[in-house]
Amino acid sequence: MTPAPPAPAYRGRLAPTASGFLHCGHAHTFAAAADRAKRAGGELLLRIEDIDPQRCRPEYLAAIVEDLAWLGLDWQPAPAAEAGPNGAYLQSRARHRHEAAWRTLARAGLLYPSPHSRRAIAERSPPSERDGGTRFPPELRQPPPRELPHSPGPANWRFRVPEGRVVPFTDARCGPQTFTAGEDFGDFLVWRRDDAPAYELAGAVDDLAQGITEVVRGEDLLLSTARQILLLEALGATPPSYCHLPLTRDPTGRRLSKTERDLSLRELRARGHSPGEVLAMPSG
Ligand code: GLU
Repeated sequence: MTPAPPAPAYRGRLAPTASGFLHCGHAHTFAAAADRAKRAGGELLLRIEDIDPQRCRPEYLAAIVEDLAWLGLDWQPAPAAEAGPNGAYLQSRARHRHEAAWRTLARAGLLYPSPHSRRAIAERSPPSERDGGTRFPPELRQPPPRELPHSPGPANWRFRVPEGRVVPFTDARCGPQTFTAGEDFGDFLVWRRDDAPAYELAGAVDDLAQGITEVVRGEDLLLSTARQILLLEALGATPPSYCHLPLTRDPTGRRLSKTERDLSLRELRARGHSPGEVLAMPSG
């Protein structure tokens, strides 16, 4: 019998959300992630995050895969069960895995259904989270249910954060980071009332299942890293390493977004720019 090939020492991923066309900022982040994988002699996966039924659209998904290939990036093909166009993983194909993680966490008494409207939360919200988001008010916490439903949806479920727990990690670019649960961020969603897993859960669970050793992404997600570390630890897993990159800003200092004001890679390409020119456009 031929022994299984050893797992690569480094496995990275590109994880765009299929909620818009990619812009120059994405190109910078993804090219840097691909470069880190290459320098480490490792592998790279493309995981399209397409689980948000309100924001994701098939035409964005197809465009993202095409734009990344145009940039000259390539990736290891996903296994057939989770594969979308051009060997990309489709996160929506892994719902069984997200539900299994919900079940593990719920059985451990770490989750509760959270019926409150956004408005009720905003009205009672204590000072905001470190990233400016709304911190969930602890007095709206519910006890974990006595009996678990067979499946999570459609309902909001939150992870009860361990109050005062310090979550330290060392980021490959930003250096040592410290976040405190209950102070820097409150109880957060792991499942949504439209019956989709929330980003924090799906991303962390997929990084684990896909054997990701280093997560490279924008520094707007540093706080998410603290939340995801808590989730992974609660699932009994060791978190990967992290490298958060600076966000690309326009000349006024505003961060690029998927709105029409910022040129998409498609638009730059239609105007005759080469991938090299796009990657050389100023960032930071
Ligand atoms: N899909 C997320 C985004 O486009 C990034 C997720 C991640 O890298 O963990 O912002």
